[in-house]
Amino acid sequence: MLSQVVELIENKNRFAITTHIKPDGDGVGSSLGLFWLLKSLGKEAEVIVNGDIPPAYTSLPGADDIRDLKALDADYDAVFVIECSDVARPGIEGLDRQFTVNIDHHSTSEHFGSINWIDSTASAVGEMIYNLCKAIGGRISKDIAECVYMALVTDTGSFHFSNTSERTLKVASELVRAGARPSKIGEAVYNNYPWSRIELMRQVLGTVKRDASGRVASMRQTLEMRRVAEAVDGDNNGFVNIPLAAREVLAVVYMREVGPNKYRSSLRSKGDINVAKVAEKFGGGGHRNAAGLSIEGDWDTIERDLMDALNEAIDAEQS
Ligand code: 5GP
Ligand code: MN
Repeated sequence: MLSQVVELIENKNRFAITTHIKPDGDGVGSSLGLFWLLKSLGKEAEVIVNGDIPPAYTSLPGADDIRDLKALDADYDAVFVIECSDVARPGIEGLDRQFTVNIDHHSTSEHFGSINWIDSTASAVGEMIYNLCKAIGGRISKDIAECVYMALVTDTGSFHFSNTSERTLKVASELVRAGARPSKIGEAVYNNYPWSRIELMRQVLGTVKRDASGRVASMRQTLEMRRVAEAVDGDNNGFVNIPLAAREVLAVVYMREVGPNKYRSSLRSKGDINVAKVAEKFGGGGHRNAAGLSIEGDWDTIERDLMDALNEAIDAEQS
């Protein structure tokens, strides 16, 4: 919990911070926000991530110094693990032998850390980093503000997803006061993709369809599409939300081929329809309106099963 995290930071010196592979804005922004907080307290800190940082986040202060690491090459007093359901998600060997601090806002988190601070009421881990900064008596510097604002913007869909609370907006307001510029961060996130995103979007949107009820939409992305588009990681950010723009569509399944008969699947919904429960049935997890899973098998069968399950979730909500 928070008090344990505060005590740890006050009493120890040498920290690393990591997040999941293919990090999103909350993963990168929260990691860097925490990095700047630790630095401002005179602590040794570094951010380590397995793989590249998506272009949307490379302009954040400190992003240039993030180390791309597949195995730990040092010992730390503690490693903060941001937004990860389990200790394997960062894809960094040796993490399980460190003193770890699990910081997450997913209620499905396994409590894998030596310390676990889970707040499922937080819109983003970024909101928790802000709370940590306040709890420790730190000042919200411009660097912290920009990084944490990035976390909030990306995890709340620019403050329109259902996780956007009064507190989220209050924190965002404080961050803007501290120097974060919404227009600059918005440009970095939304208008900063390579052309391959448009090429990939064209192909993926070509597969969009609805089931007989009209309430559930599906989309597919093959490995071939990625190859043709010369896609890079992150190019498909947000594609899953596109079909939700249709009034009658209440839930979406977006499946990406990642290997022979292997898929990553994202689920999204509107209102009270719970896709986390659907994802859990298929071995995944997430939040009420945004969840995901990995699955193997026949594409058509899995897609139909997921669409059926989404329809059941809609019925459960509407009954
Ligand atoms: P996305 O569709 O953006 O990959 O994931 C949406 C949400 O579901 C995220 O909050 C993510 O943490 C969660 N999620 C995605 N994939 C998985 C998974 O395989 N297992 C679990 N437990 N959660 C997932
Ligand atoms: Mn998050």
